[in-house]
Amino acid sequence: MSDAKDFVRTIRGVVGEDSFVGLHIPDITDVEKQKVRECLDSTFVSSVGSFVGEFEQSIAELTGAGYGVAVSNGTSALQVALELAGVGAGDDVIVPTLSFVATANAVSHAGAQPYFVDSDEETLGLSVEAVEAVLAAARSTPEGLVNGVTGRRIGAIVPMHTLGHPMRIVELVALADAYGIPVVEDAAESLGSRAGTSHTGTFGTLGILSFNGNKILTTGGGGMILTSDEELARRARHVTTTAKLPHRWEFEHDEVAYNYRMPNLNAALGVAQLKRLPEFLAAKRRLADRYRDAFEDLSGVHFLSEPDGTESNYWLCAVRVTGGVERRDELLEATNDAGLQCRPFWNLLHRQAPYRHLPHAPTPVADALQASVVCIPSSPALAAA
Ligand SMILES: *Cc1c(COP(=O)(O)O)cnc(C)c1O
Repeated sequence: MSDAKDFVRTIRGVVGEDSFVGLHIPDITDVEKQKVRECLDSTFVSSVGSFVGEFEQSIAELTGAGYGVAVSNGTSALQVALELAGVGAGDDVIVPTLSFVATANAVSHAGAQPYFVDSDEETLGLSVEAVEAVLAAARSTPEGLVNGVTGRRIGAIVPMHTLGHPMRIVELVALADAYGIPVVEDAAESLGSRAGTSHTGTFGTLGILSFNGNKILTTGGGGMILTSDEELARRARHVTTTAKLPHRWEFEHDEVAYNYRMPNLNAALGVAQLKRLPEFLAAKRRLADRYRDAFEDLSGVHFLSEPDGTESNYWLCAVRVTGGVERRDELLEATNDAGLQCRPFWNLLHRQAPYRHLPHAPTPVADALQASVVCIPSSPALAAA
């Protein structure tokens, strides 16, 4: 087994010898500054302005989603998407335990409870077999399918495309359809990723994207609800903009709603960043290819490639290491000491303080992945043309 020095040397060989290399640094040029200045000059900096509509339209076209509704962040996008899918108080929502905490928090904000399920070794996403086991053990009732473990209605399933790698979404949607459960895709990490020829986030009833500063494309903070259903899109826009009825001057609102609209200032940054997405995707693919080649000869380290039949955005490049969590931590320590910002996966959600009291499904694969994956520097600038 190669040692930590070899690991550091291999990464340095790909990213260069510069002192500090971040995990993922936003790539902002004069193109972005120009657009943001244009927005500032217009004085339409808040939730009214032309960049929001332009950004939504461009994302809808790029993803083929039909409709995009721009909101304040990915978490609020997921909360509203779940509510529009019919999730409410007392429900369970099936969520991968291997995800960022936002996935579970959005379920909680929607009044429901996450039911954590295992992951798939090959795709790093929700295990279709593990979900099937939960559904097969559920009871059919007049209110819907009831989780055999918790006695709560299963309101939705939220698959997530981990690090940008598409999970087995076609199989999952077919399974969910067979049980009549809506799928809401957390595609926060996978803008630009496709399963077959379709964009992630467009397979379920609704999907969401995030444009946080660490994602492949940023608006500073921001998110997008995706759907092909015109009525759901109209509802999404309505409830994220205080449910105000259109009128030239009256303030009439027809339900309790949210102020979750994306500000125009953020959308301006998004419009400029989106024009550069092809450049980011190409750079990340080049970086992934370089890492894969470089790690080829290193024993006990395996570069994580896109699953067969998919096209990943390679948002974060990552390796799986043998030797247990001790070796993982040894490599994390050596890389971070050497100015290479590397990170483990998130701690599993069913062990986090707000969620550890909840019942959950067995999680052997997620446990193994959590103890063995190291995310490595992935900024597009590291492989600029
Ligand atoms: C980033 C992210 C989100 C949304 O995050 P925001 O910071 O609220 O935009 C949701 N789920 C996953 C898996 C994420 O990585």
